[in-house]
Amino acid sequence: MSDTVLDTVILGSGCAGLTAAIYAARSNLKPLVLEGHEPGGQLSITTLVENFPGFPEGIQGPELIENMRKQASRFGAEFRLGHLVSADLGKHPFLLDLGNGHEKIHTRTLIIASGASARWLGLPSEQALIGHGVSSCATCDGFFFSGKEIAVVGGGDSAMEEALFLTRFATKVTLLHRREHFRASRIMLDRAMAHPNIEFRTNVIIEEGLGVDEKEVQGVRLRDSVTGEETILPISGLFLGIGHVPNAEMFAGQLDLDHDGYILTRDYVHTRVPGVYACGDVQDRRYRQAITAAGTGCMAALEVEKYLEEHGR
Ligand code: NAP
Repeated sequence: MSDTVLDTVILGSGCAGLTAAIYAARSNLKPLVLEGHEPGGQLSITTLVENFPGFPEGIQGPELIENMRKQASRFGAEFRLGHLVSADLGKHPFLLDLGNGHEKIHTRTLIIASGASARWLGLPSEQALIGHGVSSCATCDGFFFSGKEIAVVGGGDSAMEEALFLTRFATKVTLLHRREHFRASRIMLDRAMAHPNIEFRTNVIIEEGLGVDEKEVQGVRLRDSVTGEETILPISGLFLGIGHVPNAEMFAGQLDLDHDGYILTRDYVHTRVPGVYACGDVQDRRYRQAITAAGTGCMAALEVEKYLEEHGR
């Protein structure tokens, strides 16, 4: 265990964490960024980002995140791959345990920017076929489905974006949604609906993924939620675009979480523990945009600076 006490640790290296790192590093706080198991966060597995201000032609998500990382490094932020297993926020300085036996970190403040991870349907057949045709990342795995027929599940912007992206590879994409109405923004929905290779099927529930014994997706068994009728859709790939779950379970009992596990904050980024701030998708169930994550990342870093100043640093 290191005896060094850091001024601030930033948990997560997505848009919120990296913005916090840029601000904290420019304040000379030498932030340590723990990258977790999804370095770069959701932007690093997305394609063209068209709504981040400052890029009139759009910018690829991985390029945007890489630029932020370089910007934070330039001002002295340090990066380490490490997954937080537990934290003791009950004493000062806070103690972070990276779970590898000896690696414990002491820090005066903590910025939680651990984001949210892909949600799964939770079917045993789906879990068995992850990596064998079931995926939650179109940009990572789309290439493997060149010339094949696939399906995307979900009715939000992620599902539309994935479906559109996957038409680059697949000959046909069936979009499966459990309701009649969509959460997706009008522009994304219209684009997907206008695409000749995307077919929409609404009011369908996925009952089972087929192909577990063959270790390869061969189709899905669907149930119509209105008529109850069951059908088989033969496909080679199933992509999940059904939203995300916040990565905050390690703080249960120490911070206030809402019923879906998001960290509850007041005054934008304050948690119930002074010196601990939360920003980005781990605390935002409403906006969940790259730009709002960046905004709250900035706020968290400014609060850290203020807290340290008030505590004599
Ligand atoms: P979302 O808006 O929460 O949509 C999730 C979708 O998955 C909903 O249609 C939901 O159905 C469905 N779903 C959830 N659990 C399910 C389950 N167990 N079985 C079947 N379907 C299920 O999530 P998102 O699409 O990831 O978007 C999140 C945020 O990021 C939004 O603010 C969105 O605008 C933003 N985003 C923007 C872009 C862009 O602008 N390019 C791209 C991606 C995401 P119900 O509707 O029935 O609940």
